[in-house]
Formats: sequence, C-alpha cells, structure tokens
Amino acid sequence: MNFITCPRCGKECYRLFGSVCKDCFFETFKLIELPHVLHVRICSACGAYFHRSRWEDIGNIEDVVLKAVEDTLFIHNEAGDVEVYLEPREITPYIYRVRAEVDAVVREEPVHAEAETEVRIQRTACDMCSRESGGYFEAIIQIRAAGRFPTEEEKKRCMVIARESMDSMRKKGDRLAFISEIVEQKEGVDLYMGSMNASRQVCRLITSELGGNFSESPTLVGMKDGKNLYRVTFSVRLPEFRPGDVIRFRGKIIHIKSSGKKVNGTSLEDGSRFISTPEELKGAEKIGNMGNAVLTVLVSIEDNAILVLDPETYETVAIKKPMSFNAESGSEIPVLKTPYGIFALSHSEIPQAK
Ligand SMILES: [Zn+2]
Ligand SMILES: [Zn+2]
Repeated sequence: MNFITCPRCGKECYRLFGSVCKDCFFETFKLIELPHVLHVRICSACGAYFHRSRWEDIGNIEDVVLKAVEDTLFIHNEAGDVEVYLEPREITPYIYRVRAEVDAVVREEPVHAEAETEVRIQRTACDMCSRESGGYFEAIIQIRAAGRFPTEEEKKRCMVIARESMDSMRKKGDRLAFISEIVEQKEGVDLYMGSMNASRQVCRLITSELGGNFSESPTLVGMKDGKNLYRVTFSVRLPEFRPGDVIRFRGKIIHIKSSGKKVNGTSLEDGSRFISTPEELKGAEKIGNMGNAVLTVLVSIEDNAILVLDPETYETVAIKKPMSFNAESGSEIPVLKTPYGIFALSHSEIPQAK
C-alpha cells in the first residue's frame, strides 16, 4: 500500500482529506456551530412563538425552546447521515440550557460533536392577544330569528359553534380567529369577531346546522395604509319555523323537516311532501312540536279512521287514519295533540316517544 505524506504535519497516511491528512483535516473541521446564548420571544398569554418575523403556535415552552435551537444549530453542509439529539433543561421559567449532540458522516468518517446553549425567554403579548385584550374586532355577527326570539338552546348552540370553529381555525393558522366579546340580548346574541373570514365561516356553519340564512354589510370605519378599512356586520336570521315544528299553513298541517333557503316538510294528514320558502311561510301558525308527541292507546281501527285515547282527557276520539298504518288495536302509537285535533304519527317521525 502506498503511503502519502501529509504536507501540513509530515505524517504518513493512506489517503488525504482535501489536501491534508485526516487528523489535520478534522482539527479545523467544525461539524456544528451553536451560539452560547439564544433569545426567544413567546406570548405570555397564549404561548405563541415569534419566529421569522411572525407569531406562530408551535406548542409548549419546551417545544419552542427546541425549535429555536434546531433553527439556529448550524450543521456543516458536508455532513451526511446526520443525527441530532437535543436535551433541554429548565433552569428557571425564563432560562433553559440545551445540550446538542450530533453524529454524522463526513468523507466516509464518522464524526461526533457536542455543544451547549442557553435559551433566554422573553415573555410579551403577541399580536393576537394584544388585539384580543384590546377588544379588537373586524366583524360583528348578529344572531336573530325571523318572527320570534332565538331560544336559549339556539343561542348556546351558536356560541358553541363559534368557539369550536375559532379553535380549529386558530389551529390551522388563522391567528385572528378569536371572539373578542359576546353580548347576549333578549332578541339574540352579538359576537364581536377578530377575523372577517372566520366570521363568514361561522355564519355558514350556524345556518347549515340550524337553518335560516345570513347577509353581510360592510361599514367604512377609516383608512389604513391608504386603503379603506371596513368592518362587516353579518346578520344571521334563524328560521321562524324549526325542524320538528308543526305548523298550520293554508289549511294544511305540516311537519317541518328542514329549514334553510327552502323549507321542507310533510303533511301530517296525508303524508304528502311540502316545499316552500321562509318568505312564503310568513303568517303561518305554529301549532306544536314533534318533541311534544306522546304515546297513547290505539283502541280500534276502522276503514278510514282510527279510535285512540285522547292523551289528556282519556276519552276515546276518532281521528283520520294515516296513509301507511300498520299498528294493531290495543298497542300504543305516538300522537301529537294540537288545537286542530290529534294526529297519529309513525314511530319514525318522532325524536323519541315519551
Ligand atoms: Zn497532517
Ligand atoms: Zn398570544
């Protein structure tokens, strides 16, 4: 085997690394570089990390500390098969020490390096939290109902939908997806929202679940960087009649099945399908709700009528026989008592018979 003489130290070796022997090469080779001190800014309220000139949600403090070290740790570009091991140690809530160990292969030689750094944490308020606490809002969502006040249940559900979608949009990176204020009123709820786009999404979710519709109207509130600055009011109108409601409309008794831009239902008298619009239904009379259906005894079945016990007076009354009817005398069937009479229901029509 041929020996080569290192031109730097004069030692004999098998091969040269660049122009010198292995020892001379690795004497000056720096696998890693890490500053002794790192400064990171995190939000004391939400824990966001100020990173590449913007605030990001990364995780808990330890995740932020490790991310800061990973981002700063310089590894020589000749290194292959790099393995990095970081060990954080909390010294105080504001200071972490992190030891970095790196294994890599450089010019077919395994190399190991270690370094340690101190991460100093500065706690401030991020853009979002300072806006949130300052009552900042881009949009107002006004939740109302047509021809009535929203129920407590509807108001609660709207607030849950808003909070849940803000959480998920924040996780996806929309840092303005927050509710800065909720004002409950007798006629509805007003939500003051940090983000206009997030607000539109909330309106879509609310109306697709609870029915109704929404409109938006911008108001000019000033100028910023030479551009008009708008605030948008979203008006959500929950439907006058909700799924489960039973209404009397043009002499027909209708069970409302869904209520959006179109209102769908079925006739309680003959089972026929019913389609209308909220505008058309203005003036219709709500006469009951499927939630108030009760079980009663079916006394007997005749050609076009059935005899049942009135659930309140226990008198036997004759009512119209529904189109598809397969119950037997003596069994219990669900009925709904309304000011316009008692209607026999099929078991599948009611949420749960009481
Ligand atoms: Zn040498
Ligand atoms: Zn924050």
